[in-house]
Amino acid sequence: MARAAVPGGLTARRAWREATLVERRPETDSAVTLVLDVDGWPGHLPGQHVDVRLTAPDGYTATRSYSVSAPERGDRVELTVQRVPDGEVSGFLADGLEVGDTVRLRGPVGGWFVWRASQPGPVLLVAGGSGVVPLMAMLRAREPGSPCFRLVYSVREPDDVIYGDELATLAASDGVEVLLVHTRRAPDGDDRPVGRLRESDLVASGWTAQDAPTCYVCGPTGFVEAAAGLLVGLGHAADRIRTERFGPSGP
Ligand SMILES: Cc1cc2nc3c(=O)[nH]c(=O)nc-3n(C[C@H](O)[C@H](O)[C@H](O)COP(=O)(O)OP(=O)(O)OC[C@H]3O[C@@H](n4cnc5c(N)ncnc54)[C@H](O)[C@@H]3O)c2cc1C
Repeated sequence: MARAAVPGGLTARRAWREATLVERRPETDSAVTLVLDVDGWPGHLPGQHVDVRLTAPDGYTATRSYSVSAPERGDRVELTVQRVPDGEVSGFLADGLEVGDTVRLRGPVGGWFVWRASQPGPVLLVAGGSGVVPLMAMLRAREPGSPCFRLVYSVREPDDVIYGDELATLAASDGVEVLLVHTRRAPDGDDRPVGRLRESDLVASGWTAQDAPTCYVCGPTGFVEAAAGLLVGLGHAADRIRTERFGPSGP
């Protein structure tokens, strides 16, 4: 099957553009969604990310990657940034960037960790912490008739769930199931013992290797490696497991 091209030619994607913050939406105590208006944005696919560059008055620059959290919508790009303790860029984006402020942005980046609406077959999403961001863009891009999606989402405790209300609404709709995994504290009534992601959590998602879902795994590096290892152990073909690593530590 012919693949739709990734939006934007190479030159367009390499260009730094000015992005103006038009809306901030708190998601949790440590995560905020930033809606940016990016002049001439070439569009993006769910799963892709952008590079954000901050420049200090003395010319010092810092660049970090952030996944798009919502499907393409004209010149609007939505990111969800989780503040990392002592983080140089995430702290500024989460707390210091105000509506009307500008940053430089480049992208979209990535052609493998994407979900296309034309893609056949079920989808298994496995997220650790802020790794839910690009997976949320995929969930939000689903349309009536899209394949079934199941999300296994690992967080430290209930207050850390990003997009909690929207995930609950999605989970009540046809074609989406959500399983929350708590590593440190679970809500009352949750009979899963707290702890890191286990094989049984992935089995509980309901997709077996025979269902041949495309698996998207995203989060801190340690989480992604552990989750991908569990999926391989359960018989999922390595070429159906797509991974995106955000950084060192995990929930
Ligand atoms: C492809 C890609 C997509 C990403 N998408 C998102 C996203 O959608 N939302 C989001 O919040 N982040 C995302 N990240 C992570 C982001 O790029 C930064 O690494 C993160 O915001 C920390 O940057 P910082 O400058 O605040 O921290 P730094 O100043 O670089 O680091 C401060 C301290 O935090 C540790 N640290 C760095 N990154 C992380 C991390 N991810 N988790 C825990 N500890 C860390 C460092 O080891 C260091 O000790 C993505 C990363 C990649 C590679």
